[in-house]
Amino acid sequence: MTHATLAGAPFVALQNNDLYLEGVKLADLARTHGTPLFVYSKAAMLSALAAYQRGFAGRNARICYAMKANSSLAVLQVFAQAGCGFDIVSGGELDRVVAAGGDVSKVIFSGVGKTRAEMRQALEAGIACFNVESDAELEVLSEVALSLGKRAPVSIRVNPNVDAKTHPYISTGLKGNKFGVAHERALQTYQRAASLPGLHVTGIDCHIGSQITETTPYLDAMDRVLDLVQAIEAAGIPIHHIDFGGGLGINYNGDTPPEADALWAQLLTKLDARGYGQRQLMIEPGRSLVGNAGVCLTEVLYLKPGEQKNFCIVDAAMNDLPRPAMYEAFHQIVPLTPRNGDAVVYDVVGPICESGDWLGRDRSLTVQTGDTLAVLSTGAYCMAMASNYNTRGRAAEILVDGDKAHVIRRRETSADQMAMESLVS
Ligand SMILES: *Cc1c(COP(=O)(O)O)cnc(C)c1O
Repeated sequence: MTHATLAGAPFVALQNNDLYLEGVKLADLARTHGTPLFVYSKAAMLSALAAYQRGFAGRNARICYAMKANSSLAVLQVFAQAGCGFDIVSGGELDRVVAAGGDVSKVIFSGVGKTRAEMRQALEAGIACFNVESDAELEVLSEVALSLGKRAPVSIRVNPNVDAKTHPYISTGLKGNKFGVAHERALQTYQRAASLPGLHVTGIDCHIGSQITETTPYLDAMDRVLDLVQAIEAAGIPIHHIDFGGGLGINYNGDTPPEADALWAQLLTKLDARGYGQRQLMIEPGRSLVGNAGVCLTEVLYLKPGEQKNFCIVDAAMNDLPRPAMYEAFHQIVPLTPRNGDAVVYDVVGPICESGDWLGRDRSLTVQTGDTLAVLSTGAYCMAMASNYNTRGRAAEILVDGDKAHVIRRRETSADQMAMESLVS
């Protein structure tokens, strides 16, 4: 086989026994820039976005990239240039939107714990909407807006109490979650919002979880949200936009989430049937726009055979790739230049002093010390969650566009890490 695409990594392909991302040979990047190294495909991001754009063709819809999935500036730039808005969860993310040339008037601000300073910053910048998550937040936002002589545009995040059937840490739409306002309380909360002088009610939103691979939870959530829209409007409060959040899953390991356009064909049929198809729609996809667009390259440092387990010790770790440690998540791990020979079953682990520092368990690999591996589907919630644990500098990042490779973040040095610290004199 000279050219094979890997499942879950649409722009990664083996050509003459070398792994490529778009037109760039990954082994060349590892040699030039070192490892661990994140490499992203611009074409993969735009192709994921295009699926949503096809799904919404002819509709009044705005796609707000949930940038917490990957907030590197050049990644934001790709989506800003493609016309996306952004779903932010902090004032720092708003700073990044501005730095990346994004349109602040297409920003929506989610999150259960916005501070007054963040509210002021977002009001002064002129964002599109605050997705408010509690009654208490409404009161504070109204106060802050009035103190600036403004009215804050608000949407209330309602909790539709549907099971997204995903990992409990990334399920957000159930009653026991900290997110949103309970379905039963929502009308009351809207009435309070409409009465507050510093607020202007513009929409409604929900977000039921992440890595959702089934359509039913979305259809159920939509019904619950539309029931509320009906009740809220009957109470005399117009709802201008309806925001269905993000959460669509990707293929990590044979997962079969619906394609974004197929999902939205079904959702729009329901919206049309219930008479809401011509409303302004918003969505907040994160993972599904970037997850499969990234790979993390890592070098095999040592092979350590053991009585119960063989370990393949690599130079990437849980500080670079936190998802396995946090959610027991699975990422495919493949060699950049496959070798012939008998495979050995390894736990692929990093150098950090924690037993939780593993990247893959029981992986069958034919590898030697010095080989480079690619950890696939690492475009979302990897670099964005990376830390300096063990005083490890964060990895460099490359954006591939055709046969060009742009360095979009240099490798972090120890000096970078210590720059904000001081000794006691
Ligand atoms: C995280 C988050 C998203 C994006 O979720 P994905 O699973 O990455 O698509 C969207 N909206 C809100 C409010 C979020 O917290």
